[in-house]
Amino acid sequence: MKKCIKVTIDGPSASGKSTVAKKLAKKLSYMHLDTGAIYRAIALHFKELNVLDASDDKLKVALSSFSYHFTGYDENKRHYLNDRDITQELRCREISDLSSIISTNVVVRSFATDLQRSFAEQFNVVVEGRDTGSVVFPDADIKFYLDADPIERAKRRFSELKAKHGYQDLTKEEIDADLKERDNRDLKRELSPLVCPEGALKVDTTSLTVSQIVAKLTYEVKKKAPLRFASPTYYCSYKGKKCSFMYLLTKWVFGAYFKIFHTYKVEGLENFKNDCPAIIACNHVSFLDPPMLGCASPEVIHCLAKRALYKSRFMSWWLHKINTYPVSGASDDKTVMKKVLALLLKGEKVLIFPEGTRGKDGTVQPLRKGLALFADKGKAKVIPAAVIGPEHALPVNKKFPKLFTKLTVAFGPPVYYREILKEVKDKKKAREIFLERVQNEIQSLIDKYKN
Ligand code: C5P
Repeated sequence: MKKCIKVTIDGPSASGKSTVAKKLAKKLSYMHLDTGAIYRAIALHFKELNVLDASDDKLKVALSSFSYHFTGYDENKRHYLNDRDITQELRCREISDLSSIISTNVVVRSFATDLQRSFAEQFNVVVEGRDTGSVVFPDADIKFYLDADPIERAKRRFSELKAKHGYQDLTKEEIDADLKERDNRDLKRELSPLVCPEGALKVDTTSLTVSQIVAKLTYEVKKKAPLRFASPTYYCSYKGKKCSFMYLLTKWVFGAYFKIFHTYKVEGLENFKNDCPAIIACNHVSFLDPPMLGCASPEVIHCLAKRALYKSRFMSWWLHKINTYPVSGASDDKTVMKKVLALLLKGEKVLIFPEGTRGKDGTVQPLRKGLALFADKGKAKVIPAAVIGPEHALPVNKKFPKLFTKLTVAFGPPVYYREILKEVKDKKKAREIFLERVQNEIQSLIDKYKN
């Protein structure tokens, strides 16, 4: 399995790490993980549930209904709490204070640490925070610790709050006091206090500009492992999501093929929403299914593919570029589980063929339990989908497609596992109802569009 590269940037508030981390991630084409945003989202969640002063047991219950993901990058980055856009709320003064308070709690820290690790598991990443190089990723490839003179930090925070968040009536003294209090909490807390991690390169940013710091960090990263960092995976964007140029080219070539050589139709696009993770669960009848779905989806999607397909160097390179990931077998194998969950937690859409076996007469077969597990743990909705026609255009035993046949892709209304679980309470029962509902939705799409 490809080893993902982790770059950590720790430091006190207003040391410049957020701006620098964002820009460095963009330069290297890595994912940018703002761990402070996770603590802020948890603080907002606790505030809304009114459990800020509750016992650890109650906090654990509150965290079971917490889901966080983000979309976009740089200035277009949006943060979501249980699928609700909270980007603006996260930066308010109250949440800054509350996040600093709740982050001293053991239950919160261990939850947030697991979440950060699951985000970073499958992607090259620049992580920023307070303990990312010391506790969360002690084995990170490269660690930085940014610091700046306290007077300079207060000045930066003052202009940031005024310019970006409109706090016109705040005084310098108030910001100074806030900053000192948060520094104190971060430095003195028992759990994962803010420290310069072992092996980290310390950078004093007091008299440096943002571009100077980014240039210095980029130089250090490339110096350490020039070849491993040389080829960025992502350098294009499609509807706000990053993807490779090859992904767009493949989508365009297959799209042109379907439109020119077949009667190709896509139905139910209104069931997509660009703001949350989802599993697209589809029937599987032919090798044409994945490209048909890739072309039909109005957003970038990810897909799992049989490891055997990755045998040649070209196929392996191409399949990676078009967002497919090798799996060896059943959907409950651990690699599959981790891969799919990491993608969902990042707010991505993942295509899955959940039928246990293939139905010979065109009927949808019972779905694998794993689908419910993904929907539950990945906190994702499921968009049922059906492909109709590829079984005639390219049957499983044929090498070349039959041209000018009718091909349809249809998407149905989303099914929410967590809502079913809320209603019936019992996990086993919820899973059965959920799987049956998705199966029936796929079947009714096939029945509706087959003629
Ligand atoms: O970095 P940011 O100011 O957004 O972080 C909000 C709060 O979350 C900080 O005041 C800090 O106390 C806490 N935090 C933390 N560990 C991290 C990131 C943030 O304790 N890795």
